[in-house]
Amino acid sequence: MRKKIIVGNWKMNKTVDESAKLATELVAAVKGQAFAETVEIGIAPTFLALDRVAAIVKGSPVRLVAQDVHFENQGAFTGKVSVDMLKAIGVTHVILGHSEPRTLFGETDAAVNKKTLKVLSEGLTPIVCVGETRAEREGNVTEKVVGNQVRAAYQGVSAAEAAKSVIAYEPVWAIGTGLTASDDQAQAVHKFIRGLLTELYGSGTAEAVRIQYGGSMKAENASGLLKQGDIDGGLIGGASLKVDSFLGIIKAA
Ligand code: PEP
Repeated sequence: MRKKIIVGNWKMNKTVDESAKLATELVAAVKGQAFAETVEIGIAPTFLALDRVAAIVKGSPVRLVAQDVHFENQGAFTGKVSVDMLKAIGVTHVILGHSEPRTLFGETDAAVNKKTLKVLSEGLTPIVCVGETRAEREGNVTEKVVGNQVRAAYQGVSAAEAAKSVIAYEPVWAIGTGLTASDDQAQAVHKFIRGLLTELYGSGTAEAVRIQYGGSMKAENASGLLKQGDIDGGLIGGASLKVDSFLGIIKAA
């Protein structure tokens, strides 16, 4: 059975002190709780706060997640951060290809692929984000768009490596909008993704990959989504910025 994975993406929110405070509250809230054994929990603060938060989550069930990474090891890449740097401070997972870098900063499928390969080769877990816009859903091309994103991201990735990865299905129209895909809408796309992984890698690998849902997930709608057969967790934006709402989703998982 796939272990559910709930990750909070704090995006460009919270100063280092505020991040440390929220991380401290979360670690205290999950300490000794049975659900912390059965659900994998992660938080992705701003790069600036990663080091400080690393010391806070150390020894706890809370995993340290980065919001992005560059695919080169080092060198003249102003503004970028490497996998080595993340690894050195205890980051274990990296969010890749989120719709915000894709749509706002021109992140391409090719870059997402290079990053996926790099993160896997260094033994970290990529959380590869895919999802359609509202216009694409209304144009009935959701599967085509999501399928292309998955194929592109996994170009050159072996079955053994793919099995260790996480995919986040995040309909762009649901991110930060308060609109959530219905349980059935989300399950249908998750099932499609798992079918595509079966085509690419065989059913053993496809069954191992965890597929999170993301897009205005909150404590109130999490149970229905997380009960679906192919929904293995959540990537949470807004609702991860307060310990109570994030905890509600973890408990639902
Ligand atoms: C996200 O950005 O990954 C996300 C799902 O955001 P929100 O939960 O705020 O919709």
